[in-house]
Amino acid sequence: MVITFWGTRGSIPVPGESTIKYGGNTPCVHILTDEERNIIIDAGTGIRGLGKELKQNSSNELDLFISHTHWDHIHGLPFFAPLYNSKTLLNIHLHDNFSPNKIIETQLHSSFFPIDKDELTANIKYAPIDISKEIKIGNVEVRTVKVHHSKGTVAFKFTENEKSVVYMTDNEIFCEQESNDKKPDKILELNSSLIEFCYGSDYLIHDSMYNHNDFIKKKGWGHSDNISLAYFSMYAKVKNLVLFHYEPDYKDSEIDKLEFETQQLIKDNNSKIKCIASFEGMKIHTQGIE
Ligand SMILES: [Zn+2]
Ligand SMILES: [Zn+2]
Repeated sequence: MVITFWGTRGSIPVPGESTIKYGGNTPCVHILTDEERNIIIDAGTGIRGLGKELKQNSSNELDLFISHTHWDHIHGLPFFAPLYNSKTLLNIHLHDNFSPNKIIETQLHSSFFPIDKDELTANIKYAPIDISKEIKIGNVEVRTVKVHHSKGTVAFKFTENEKSVVYMTDNEIFCEQESNDKKPDKILELNSSLIEFCYGSDYLIHDSMYNHNDFIKKKGWGHSDNISLAYFSMYAKVKNLVLFHYEPDYKDSEIDKLEFETQQLIKDNNSKIKCIASFEGMKIHTQGIE
């Protein structure tokens, strides 16, 4: 699999001088499978650039997995060029808690958007996600799990040729806090099913919205901090940790700090996990070929 990041920011797009390094677009990740199928995860504003690139692509079948329908995960969808191409077959995978028809109709309502839904010429199929069932996209196995966020939010695990990638954003890693100790407690106990889901994966792309101080003020909002995430990753024994879905107010320098602090904590615990802060345009080759 080749994974490309088209949007790494949480909540709202933040273009500008202070977000050039990591980018200002909201979540969108593309996976080109070993069989050259196209899997897209989330439809934040990053999907617009991806859509333009896919136009040159010979394959017209696309599988879009949407983690949940908060604005930042769907607001790029009306700007996704393949929707206006009659050759496109778009399979939208979404938890059955949501109605994809209603979402697109609402987004394209004349009060919000100038183009009518009848002008979407692509063949759009809805594939409701049943978390008890595995999904197959060619050779890729897709497993899903409910996370600690709003109702119906799911994470995905993609496995192909013995390589696995977990996409788990908009998830709050539950923890307890000792009063005089910075170290979050009870992570293993409070997140056991999610740790099990991620266990041994080659790549974990995870919500890393806050630093530890900001997280304390925003506990219960459904997002994680980098410190809890470092411990979560060590319990899950993942090989690579990819920070994702940043707080819109964080400048590039603050994300640099988030990355450095996470790497340091992992090293101090004698773990071999490699940690990187994702940025727009970043590519990961799961087979290790650059
Ligand atoms: Zn989000
Ligand atoms: Zn959300």
